[in-house]
Amino acid sequence: MIKQSILALCDHPFRQHQSCNNSWCKFLDNPNEKFSSLPHGKPLSDGALQNALRSVFTTYAGNAGKLSSLGSTQQNESFNRIVASKAPKQQHYSSSGSLKFRIAACVAQKNEGNKFILDVNKNISVSPGYFTQRLAVLRDLQHRKRKAIANTYKFKQRRRNLKSTRHQKLATKEVREGVTYSSGIGLEDHPSDDIEEIPSPSLQPAYKMIEWTTKVNQIFFDIEATGLARNSHITQISATSDKGSINTYVLPKKPITPKAQEITGIKVEGSKMFCNDKEVKSKTKLLLPTLTPLTEKKIIISRTANVIAASGMSFSHLLLSYARDGRQGIEDVLKEEDVNGKVRVTKSKKIVDAISDFFKSLKPEA
Ligand SMILES: [Zn+2]
Repeated sequence: MIKQSILALCDHPFRQHQSCNNSWCKFLDNPNEKFSSLPHGKPLSDGALQNALRSVFTTYAGNAGKLSSLGSTQQNESFNRIVASKAPKQQHYSSSGSLKFRIAACVAQKNEGNKFILDVNKNISVSPGYFTQRLAVLRDLQHRKRKAIANTYKFKQRRRNLKSTRHQKLATKEVREGVTYSSGIGLEDHPSDDIEEIPSPSLQPAYKMIEWTTKVNQIFFDIEATGLARNSHITQISATSDKGSINTYVLPKKPITPKAQEITGIKVEGSKMFCNDKEVKSKTKLLLPTLTPLTEKKIIISRTANVIAASGMSFSHLLLSYARDGRQGIEDVLKEEDVNGKVRVTKSKKIVDAISDFFKSLKPEA
């Protein structure tokens, strides 16, 4: 049995499965399987290599009687790793007296887990200490957790997928770059001059369907602005949904760049806005009529009303400011400075007094 399996080792990687065994060769059940450990999952094809391997394995097969099946080498690898952590190869521990303690610690860790250090401490009458204890327990916990996760089907599947993706990426890159190195390349008489690289795929925007998990109201909106700069002003806001739509023009305080004007068709002349040469009502124009009670009674002049409307305030906003903080409220909103330090409307006490007196007269005397 062992003899046959050893001989199969020099045939199996070359996709010759006549001496393979069902217990480990998956190709017997499914001839379309891929080699998980060979480049690109492809079988070996070098005849000379196969012959060389055969001569090696024939010798081993002749001594099959002296060999016994040890199963997986994983346990061995795991122990090797522990040793490498406690006696790193770059340090010369072979001549050190500490080597046997190091190896002993590895054996204890492999058999007992990280808490072995606590037992050792207790045995030599040393208190393990709070942090030593806590760390040992934590390490054992992490170990058990990792092991439990690594054994799940999902984890193994993901590991397989990552591996095949990696292989696929490598294969593609090799095709794109051509051969960049091969053994003995310096000895070749006519080294390949194929150094042209196929460019990598350029990123294409892809259409992606958005799936709604809950019932939502879809609102689609768009804004137009005076330009593409970060401090551009908005000139138009539109939104639509199945419940209706809105469309608002806003008189910007900045000039519209020629490019933006060309794209949006929006232009400003004085305080009038035009969309595709048709005059439209801007937000300022919508606010201005609300201020007529003030202008009619000559509380403020129309220029001030314009400025108030242009800053986005209506009559009701002023009224609200007065209701909230009286004369001070009016003063505060009118003299508020924007990011550029520009006063919103005015600092004039006369105007503030006039407006607040007006609101005061509206209020029924208490
Ligand atoms: Zn096989």
